[in-house]
Amino acid sequence: MALTVSQLVSGYGKLQVLFGVSVEVPRRSVVSIVGPNGAGKTTTLLTVMGVVKPWGGVVALEGRDVTKAPPHEKVELGLALVPEGRRLFTDMTVEENLLMGAYSRRARASMHDSLELVYSLFPRLRERRRQKAGTMSGGEQQMLAIGRALMSRPRVLMIDEPSAGLAPKVAGELFQTIARLRDEMSVVLVEQNVAAAFEISDYVYVIEGGRVAASGTPEELGRDDGVRRIYLGV
Ligand code: ATP
Repeated sequence: MALTVSQLVSGYGKLQVLFGVSVEVPRRSVVSIVGPNGAGKTTTLLTVMGVVKPWGGVVALEGRDVTKAPPHEKVELGLALVPEGRRLFTDMTVEENLLMGAYSRRARASMHDSLELVYSLFPRLRERRRQKAGTMSGGEQQMLAIGRALMSRPRVLMIDEPSAGLAPKVAGELFQTIARLRDEMSVVLVEQNVAAAFEISDYVYVIEGGRVAASGTPEELGRDDGVRRIYLGV
């Protein structure tokens, strides 16, 4: 497994949000996490990254226990997160934003190769490399946020709500690019657009109330009447 999350428990202050979430992410796969608003999807990603401290449970990256490692150490070990809302440096150019993503020791060594990799995945970013990030379209900014995370050469890339606020056609292109990332790494995707997530995922977890309510391949979950009715609208 690229990433194994076992019985993860966490929350904010006294508010418990996760009640034992377990997720397995095989190498070179796309695994999606879906579920209703407030279910704990973002909190799961933040806790895996160590931005939110785990109260209990284990996070293992390539078999190594990294539960207590702070976020910058996890980046060094091959984990990256594209947060909700992108968090770009809007007054800096596209290329400057990308270079900001290569701060880890491992990433600095391969910075130029990484830039080529990102530009080959997202040709639009190469065309716009001298443009200020804040003046890019929503879809381009999301590509840039993903590109910046790729600069750390992650083995596991976690992406929170990449399609939020994007037109369907733009979102569709983005999903196709995310699907292609699986040739190089594992992807954990949190998505509101459940149908799109099903299309590109190898495995899907449904989180409700801070617990895994269901999991399976998209085909398996697609046969579950509850999942179909609530999440796929059919
Ligand atoms: P959404 O799809 O709406 O983003 P989600 O499944 O990602 O939902 P989370 O963002 O993980 O859900 O939120 C889970 C719960 O934790 C919610 O009840 C939310 O209000 C609470 N929460 C999230 N962030 C904080 C915070 N910084 N401080 C306190 N409570 C928080």
